[in-house]
Amino acid sequence: MSKKVLIVGAGLGSLATALRLSHLGYQVEVLERYHRPGGRLNLLQKDGFTFDVGPSFFSMSYEFRELFESQGLEVPFTIRELDPLYTVNIAGRDKVYRMFKDLKKLAQEFSDEPNFEEKAKRYLKAAGTIFHDTEYKVVKRNFNGMVPYLASLATVPLKHLPKMFRSMWAELERNFETEDVKVIFSLVSFFLGATPFDTPAVYSLLNYTELQHDGYWNVEGGMYKIVEGIMPILEQRGVRFHYNTEVTGVELKDGKLHAVVDSEGKGWTADVFVCNADAAWFRGAILNRKAYREEKLDKLDWTLAPFTIYLGVKGKIDGIAHHNYFLGNNFKAYADMIFKTSVAPEKPYYYVNVASKSNPGCAPEGCENLFILCPVPDLRHKPDWSDAEKLTDDIIADLSARVGFDITNNIISKTIYTPVDWMRMFNLYKGSGLGLAHGMNQIGAFRPSNKDEQLSNLYYVGASTIPGTGLPIVVIGSKLVTERITHEHGTVS
Ligand SMILES: Cc1cc2nc3c(=O)[nH]c(=O)nc-3n(C[C@H](O)[C@H](O)[C@H](O)COP(=O)(O)OP(=O)(O)OC[C@H]3O[C@@H](n4cnc5c(N)ncnc54)[C@H](O)[C@@H]3O)c2cc1C
Repeated sequence: MSKKVLIVGAGLGSLATALRLSHLGYQVEVLERYHRPGGRLNLLQKDGFTFDVGPSFFSMSYEFRELFESQGLEVPFTIRELDPLYTVNIAGRDKVYRMFKDLKKLAQEFSDEPNFEEKAKRYLKAAGTIFHDTEYKVVKRNFNGMVPYLASLATVPLKHLPKMFRSMWAELERNFETEDVKVIFSLVSFFLGATPFDTPAVYSLLNYTELQHDGYWNVEGGMYKIVEGIMPILEQRGVRFHYNTEVTGVELKDGKLHAVVDSEGKGWTADVFVCNADAAWFRGAILNRKAYREEKLDKLDWTLAPFTIYLGVKGKIDGIAHHNYFLGNNFKAYADMIFKTSVAPEKPYYYVNVASKSNPGCAPEGCENLFILCPVPDLRHKPDWSDAEKLTDDIIADLSARVGFDITNNIISKTIYTPVDWMRMFNLYKGSGLGLAHGMNQIGAFRPSNKDEQLSNLYYVGASTIPGTGLPIVVIGSKLVTERITHEHGTVS
């Protein structure tokens, strides 16, 4: 009989792990508290519109190819490269920046920056070296403790060392003169859970991944096609899913996890368990580990929380592309305040995705569907979201003015998810959107491990364990956890 693996949660990390393990002959069962698979990569269908709930694009598309091709499968959805990657609208500027991978075209966008192309080539070349020097030494690796991790770090060429201590902003200042280049290149730091002023310059590697290496991609028909592509394969392999099933406890036996227990008191047994719920939260709330109690978790660095608005709008909005950032003109002050403020930002910075620009099926004829994401402080700092409607109105008014279209009076459908909703829907710790941040003290062996410290048959996959957050990164995480499980438990018994 094959060994049974039980996975808690049905996010992308879980689905990718289920794909790999079922291919190797494991019998897989999944428990999910939400009513649908996908986790943050989810779907909202309302008033004739279809919205992607969370992610709207991804980098490192080859990680998806590896996931399927390693099992002899074709990628079961169609991916499209974004060109331009996105646009950036900075308040007070008379132009909208379009971000191209083609540096000649990008140089025309940044015509105020002397010798932009030459400078960008030099900057991105150095960033690319960091990416390739760390990819297999830090990111795509399991670590059995701090000593092997530090030993592996020691093999990264010393020339990168100063960039561990210099900030990303300082690095950009060494390379570019104009504020707009620095602001736009530094936006990636927010994905990591920090501002460019306290993100180490090594993370300029993210500029390389977006602008040179593989760019950004999305999925024809919407991002949820990823989940809809994976599910039939899993179902055909006999992987069983149980929705509306929340794990609230555990039963231990002989240093192992014997069963996870759901909120109805039912125990679910298996040979091996994989937790796709937040790896830090699970250790504290479910396993009752002192090091992960709420007061300890609250001291860690978490990524910003999402405040998201889903709008169905009558009419076509010409002044906007598929992926767009709308920023104010007080970048440093905004960055310094946004992680810790207890009030909603007055002039919010936000991202808008208009999926109907390239996926006509997601909105009725003659309409647009808008997904607006405004990163806000998590619930430790701003627990009260009774002002959600006001923030929504402010964002819609600002967006209307900046794209020259009266959105307010053409809304057919409106849904708002505050950080409280995000916490309730997917059990995100204090509403943090991307999980634990990625400072040097929270990556590699410093991040909650993908193997439990005490229970020999419990593993973790997803945003808050290694290597970290983001769709392709949790796909890498699924490979790492599968390697551990097969190494420690064999392929099939
Ligand atoms: C608004 C938003 C926008 C984003 N945009 C992008 C983007 O454009 N590109 C990108 O690459 N990444 C993006 N991300 C990040 C990306 O969504 C995540 O990194 C990734 O989806 C995490 O996958 P996961 O498998 O770790 O976890 P999740 O998606 O969180 O899945 C975990 C699952 O476990 C379930 N669960 C939790 N606790 C329990 C329990 N006790 N019992 C049973 N089930 C439980 C949850 O309900 C959830 O379904 C975005 C995230 C957000 C929130």
